[in-house]
Amino acid sequence: MGSYRVLIVDDEEQVRNLIVSLFSNYGHSCETAKDGIEALEIIKKNSFDSAVIDIVMPAMDGITLTRELVNLHPDLPIIIMTGHADEHSAESAIAAGGREFIKKPFSIDEFILRFDKMMRDHRGEEELLALSLTDELTGLYNRRRFFVLTDQYLKLSVRTKKRLLLLFIDMNNLKWVNDHHGHKEGDQALIGLANILKKTFRESDIIARIGGDEFVVLSESADENGEILMTRLVENIRDYNAKGSQDYVLSISVGRRLIGKKTGKETRFGRDINTD
Ligand SMILES: [Mg+2]
Repeated sequence: MGSYRVLIVDDEEQVRNLIVSLFSNYGHSCETAKDGIEALEIIKKNSFDSAVIDIVMPAMDGITLTRELVNLHPDLPIIIMTGHADEHSAESAIAAGGREFIKKPFSIDEFILRFDKMMRDHRGEEELLALSLTDELTGLYNRRRFFVLTDQYLKLSVRTKKRLLLLFIDMNNLKWVNDHHGHKEGDQALIGLANILKKTFRESDIIARIGGDEFVVLSESADENGEILMTRLVENIRDYNAKGSQDYVLSISVGRRLIGKKTGKETRFGRDINTD
């Protein structure tokens, strides 16, 4: 298991101390809060991998706190310590967005088991999600993720009135490379192009492979028509061809669209580029 940053929220000091010392034995680091209000203050200033929350607390109870936390961080795995005689508290804990619950008083073993299971499940879900949104061959975003991210980006650009540069990049002659040098080499060419794109554009740009030989880049370009970026891209391809050991020339065709300030409309401009 990894080590996590955990927020412990309980109105009883004894319980907080117990969990903190338990977790520190397992290499986790903790912050504590005595009620929901304090917990919200802390979570606004720090990031956590998980939270352990008592259900009955003054000022703000654990159910309300859980709802607030899930609003702020929908993916945060939360374990709720339910208690006493309330039979329905576990149900309300899960309904509020808790991933796990444990009835007080609990044994240390059970607590650790439940916590570990919750974190393992959470990690598994994150990995699955990442896989379903990534192009397996190149590690770039896949088509699905591109459209989700682009949608967010476009809304943002309309709000901030920033211009975006959209590039459609086709690898030329992929079929020829596959036919003459085999699919392994074709895959290498695609990986090579993906690396060139990563090198050319910024980390904040969206780079995706949306089809066999089709790539797209959405960039918040500083120069209006993306001339500097295009020059850098062409140079990096030349460099790849000059230094690489492959028996063919990697080349691309690029279509450029500028996505405009207020409307989110796209306009085509300039000459499209072919590095052949
Ligand atoms: Mg309590």
